[in-house]
Amino acid sequence: MHSNRVGGDTVEARLTALDTAVTALLDDDLTGLSNDDIVEVLQRMETSLRKASAAGHRLIVETTERRIPEHLGCRSITDFLIGTLRISAADAARRVKGAKKAGSWHAADGGDMPVELPAAAAAQRAGVIGADHVAAVAKIMRKVPHGTGFDEITVAEKILADAACSVTPEEVAKIGAHLLAYLNPDGDVPDEKERRRRRGLRIGKQGTDLMTPISGLLDPETRTLLEPVLAKLARPGMNNPDDPESPRGDVESEDLDRDALAKAAARDTRTAVQRNHDALKVALRQVLSSGVLGSHRGLPVTAILTMSVTQVEEATGAVSTASGGLVPIRDALRMAEKAHPVLAIFDHHGRPLHLGRAKRLASADQRLALIAASGGCTRPGCDTPATLTAVHHITEWRDGGPTDITNKDLACDACHALVHDGPGGWETRVAPAGSECPGRTEWIPLPHIDPEQKPRVNHRHHLGDLLSAALAHYHARRETELREYRRRWLREPGREASDGDGP
Ligand SMILES: [Zn+2]
Repeated sequence: MHSNRVGGDTVEARLTALDTAVTALLDDDLTGLSNDDIVEVLQRMETSLRKASAAGHRLIVETTERRIPEHLGCRSITDFLIGTLRISAADAARRVKGAKKAGSWHAADGGDMPVELPAAAAAQRAGVIGADHVAAVAKIMRKVPHGTGFDEITVAEKILADAACSVTPEEVAKIGAHLLAYLNPDGDVPDEKERRRRRGLRIGKQGTDLMTPISGLLDPETRTLLEPVLAKLARPGMNNPDDPESPRGDVESEDLDRDALAKAAARDTRTAVQRNHDALKVALRQVLSSGVLGSHRGLPVTAILTMSVTQVEEATGAVSTASGGLVPIRDALRMAEKAHPVLAIFDHHGRPLHLGRAKRLASADQRLALIAASGGCTRPGCDTPATLTAVHHITEWRDGGPTDITNKDLACDACHALVHDGPGGWETRVAPAGSECPGRTEWIPLPHIDPEQKPRVNHRHHLGDLLSAALAHYHARRETELREYRRRWLREPGREASDGDGP
């Protein structure tokens, strides 16, 4: 110690005494102490160590304010502590943070700055709480909502510091969570906003395997609503689609065969996520069949499946839903058996053969027929599915189309707004017999889009038809080619007739 420093002799005397005391404690005979004495020694040692860590804060403050690290070429106080004391970076960072929160700092003019955590700092100086307690208090205080008044902040810190005097740092964290809720009884405002912003349910694109990825974040309320549904419907053994004897319906019902459920549960090899999936399916089916959702654009809210008579006969491929999805035909037929979806079967010309549905609504027939026939918005290129369209009158074409058939079809609101008599308005008509798609709704493009104004139909919802038409065309052409090939080839001399089956 430099003797020219004020108080230097005093500090040196203290350190000598401290070192002497600690060194003596290393060698003192503990055998003469009772168990209670040992406990008390532990506690008093801890108190001294806590005080010592508070004393350490003073030294860190002093070192920093004197800019000693800079004078010694260190990048930071942490850097300085690591180099000077050979402590770990984590330890150095912890000590610097502790000093920042509980140390007594000074402004540039030498005046005292308010201690950031005054109550915790005082408790640490008294040796009642340690560095971990102070860190726990600091962590909670960082989360105090913005806009909390100074008085409330002061009181909150005092409550936490007082609590810290009788509990562990972990318990300080728990008490702090309650305190934060109290400080903000309307909910954690910034976090609530954040939760509102982040909530979402993303229904991904249906893959080529017809599976659809979902992702997103449920808000706490939605989770609260979902959990009991899953708890009930996703119980092992319940609603197992792979097990025809698995009980369906109300698991609490008197009529439910407990024995059968226990056996079904034992057979149930589904994972928890698979059971959740099946439960959600059951819940959605129940919601739709309950009718609570009423109607949407003139039809009961339900799944609407449309398929051609060929698809039903062959039971292969996938059928369209009115909302633009695809369902394998076997699944569609199984769904239709349960009568929940509306099943519309159409012949090759889009004429309805069968309109089956859970609930009969005469006024809905027309819309249903249009959904099956048009599949969605009829404007060329628009891919809006049928569920987002409305039934609109088709403007008669000026040359006069057939007037004896239903003069209505589907269009989404945006596209329907394009149909009007004013400048830039589109015209629509029913495609006449002999055209490419008779009976379908044709849109007459504006001259700047097509100078010839050749009527167009929307193929987006008829890709299957388009594909089968293209295939038929291809087969026909190939057949013609083969015939031609054989004819020419068989005329060629020197060839064996047995080779005449062609390539
Ligand atoms: Zn449209």
